[in-house]
Amino acid sequence: MTNVVVLGGGPAGNQAASRAASLGARVVLLERDLVGGAAHLWDCIPSKAMIATAGALSFTQRLGGLGVTGAVSARIDYESLRRRIADVTGHLQRSVEQLLASQGVRTLRGEGRLAGPHSVVVTTPGGAEEHLYADAIVVSTGSRPRVPDWAAPDGERVLTTRQAYPPPEMPEHLVVVGSGVTGVEFVHMFSSLGSRVSLIVSRQHVLPHKDAEVAAALEEELLRRGVQLFKGARAQGVDADGAGVTVRCDDGRAVRGSHVLLAVGSVPNSDHLGLDRAGVEVDKSGYVTVNHHCQTNVPHIYAAGDVSGKLPLSSVAAMQGRKVAEHIMGLHTLVHRHIDYDKAASAVFTEPEIADVGLAEAEAFASGRKIRVTKVPFGASARALINYDTRGFVKIISDPATGVVLGGCVVGSQAAELISVIALAVTARLKVTDLVESCLVHPSLAEALAEAAE
Ligand SMILES: Cc1cc2nc3c(=O)[nH]c(=O)nc-3n(C[C@H](O)[C@H](O)[C@H](O)COP(=O)(O)OP(=O)(O)OC[C@H]3O[C@@H](n4cnc5c(N)ncnc54)[C@H](O)[C@@H]3O)c2cc1C
Repeated sequence: MTNVVVLGGGPAGNQAASRAASLGARVVLLERDLVGGAAHLWDCIPSKAMIATAGALSFTQRLGGLGVTGAVSARIDYESLRRRIADVTGHLQRSVEQLLASQGVRTLRGEGRLAGPHSVVVTTPGGAEEHLYADAIVVSTGSRPRVPDWAAPDGERVLTTRQAYPPPEMPEHLVVVGSGVTGVEFVHMFSSLGSRVSLIVSRQHVLPHKDAEVAAALEEELLRRGVQLFKGARAQGVDADGAGVTVRCDDGRAVRGSHVLLAVGSVPNSDHLGLDRAGVEVDKSGYVTVNHHCQTNVPHIYAAGDVSGKLPLSSVAAMQGRKVAEHIMGLHTLVHRHIDYDKAASAVFTEPEIADVGLAEAEAFASGRKIRVTKVPFGASARALINYDTRGFVKIISDPATGVVLGGCVVGSQAAELISVIALAVTARLKVTDLVESCLVHPSLAEALAEAAE
């Protein structure tokens, strides 16, 4: 029987363990914290739970437009919010644990490290050590927020993303450093919950890696809410005192607030893992170097999820975990397909919501590739009008010669759900005519996808 040891129980690790067990391996999963990983405990789930509450609050402000009259003076009960986040996280954790147990995976609580190419040592919280033999090892230890050397998070006024669900005291004026996906989600979250928010944007627009029209739509909404954008400024220092914080920028500007939140990327959890003992190589940033099977330079040792330095998304981590298990169990010779990272859908859970997949307009332009771009605003959608939310648009990018859908983006309500249709089209190489000829529900937001494909 193949012995598989998995280090880290986040989406990458628990999916690798589950799939390997279902394919007949004897699996031990090591987790020093909670099964479900940082994804469940700190990142995706609590942030989206906070955003759901923020969205509910902002919905109450639009009730007048839906014909609901009378005073609705909704406010947040932070204790209930904390309990709700803990409930959601706990529920998900238990369901992952139950699934793994039902598949015969042995889950061990403790910190794992490699002692050699086939040897893993786990130290339990009580300090006991257990040595495990492994035919194959999966390193899926994730990442943690990057803390720049000019800031010292204290969990009170200077916060990392993991200290903000919600923080001990709600910020009266939050300064967010970093305008990538994580940064803008926190801006949306706190500005919806009633904090004044300032955002330090190192480039000329937010979401520098997204379609420019998409970024512009989000900026417009942030400005409408009174979020102050400090563009072209890099934070280089934080001074905290009893009354608040001052963020100093490289262009001489200083932004004063009550709290600061750092959203400046992440670093891999690859230190203290004993990778050198097994001869596993990491790159200069500490990410474990892998090939398209997620194999390291030591063929029976794999890395999956954030620690592998590919797309830092739960969905990608989970997919990598499954593919790794299939490779270990020899399934790749039969039905396995490599992960195509370029076809991974992703979302930004702001208002308006944003989601995209596949080829982007700017990318096609840069490479000189001919594309057809079609766009439909939600203002033309019956369902959007009915819902009293016509913000946003759908854009579809296709090959003008063949009609094959190459990519697209959705800005607006339910974007993270709607993008699935375009993602399926991109993965299955469907044509725009396939979308146009799908007889969709009326009235629905999805109709805009078919219209955009025309
Ligand atoms: C604020 C925020 C919001 C996000 N929202 C989304 C989102 O909405 N959608 C999305 O797709 N992605 C989102 N992400 C990204 C997502 O959280 C990560 O891509 C995902 O968690 C990666 O999964 P993983 O399995 O690699 O690692 P993790 O989820 O980080 O799990 C790794 C696990 O390994 C454990 N571990 C580490 N070292 C050891 C050791 N030595 N021994 C034993 N256990 C160990 C850790 O305790 C942890 O539980 C978000 C990220 C952030 C920061």
